Amino acid sequence: MGCSANSANIYPLPKAYLHYNQLHSRLTEISGLDPALAQLHVLGFSGTEELPILALQIGKAQAQRNILIIGQHHGDEVLGVELSVALAAELMRKHESDKLWKQIMDEYRFFIVPTINPEGWKRVCDGEYQFKRKNNRDTNKNGRLDIRADGVDLNRNYPVFWADQVPVPPGHANYKGERPASETEVQAILKLAEKHLFELAIFYHSSSTGAFSEKIFLPNRIIGDEEQERRLDELFIFAQGYAQRVKKDYQKGYYQVGEGNTSRVGNARNFFFHTYQTDAFLVELGGINSAGISVVHPNANMKDKIMKKNLAALRQVLYQRAKSK
Ligand SMILES: [Zn+2]
Repeated sequence: MGCSANSANIYPLPKAYLHYNQLHSRLTEISGLDPALAQLHVLGFSGTEELPILALQIGKAQAQRNILIIGQHHGDEVLGVELSVALAAELMRKHESDKLWKQIMDEYRFFIVPTINPEGWKRVCDGEYQFKRKNNRDTNKNGRLDIRADGVDLNRNYPVFWADQVPVPPGHANYKGERPASETEVQAILKLAEKHLFELAIFYHSSSTGAFSEKIFLPNRIIGDEEQERRLDELFIFAQGYAQRVKKDYQKGYYQVGEGNTSRVGNARNFFFHTYQTDAFLVELGGINSAGISVVHPNANMKDKIMKKNLAALRQVLYQRAKSK
């Protein structure tokens, strides 16, 4: 298998990946392309190391509808950070020259948050632990960071359905925290959500087990609520428009929208959909190679392909949406 090395996970991450230490200057550079169109915000700070949670707001004065993009909740899921930064750059470069992006930008203002988990991501970037998922809260309370065990799963800490998740011990990958929105990282997003009503929110993740790879997941549905069923049916069609435009990385076929109901836990898509009626869903970037391995840290070439095809799909579905509603 001469080409197997080309389809494996690479760690430490290659130079082609954005490093935590570069994020601020990269976002400053992007917003600097047109300061009238883009502003860099600090939404808040991480709970243990007080690292800033950065967001780019990109939009024309006339744009009345808001889209939220969060590139990362889990530190090891780096493809979404890359994608959200690539999207910001694309918007800045093409909002006039490209007919579709222009129409999208006439309607929509974007809030792009590359990561809400700078603590986890930084450790992954530093080469310390490839699968650092949670933040760095000292959840076992021994006074130091145990990089594999400590931390809260930020995508289980949102205050909707938080109580519905069956409790797991603090060392578990899905530990939800001591109380809803206990984490400052999540509080930063709650504050943003209070301030701006989002019509659409997309959360990028990667499935390191491969169980969810290259799928889109909708919010949990409360069976029997007709209005909600109608909204979710509509959202399914929109998400399918995205999925069907993105070819899988290594296998035949395209991304798919997960069928059936998803978990009733305190995750971001449940929070936005059930609190603010935001059309919210999660996209799992990163495919499964021919050896059956989930590739969430692909080489630079595959990373670029993933960026390109996801940006192309976003451009199409957002254009349709901008025209139709
Ligand atoms: Zn994730």
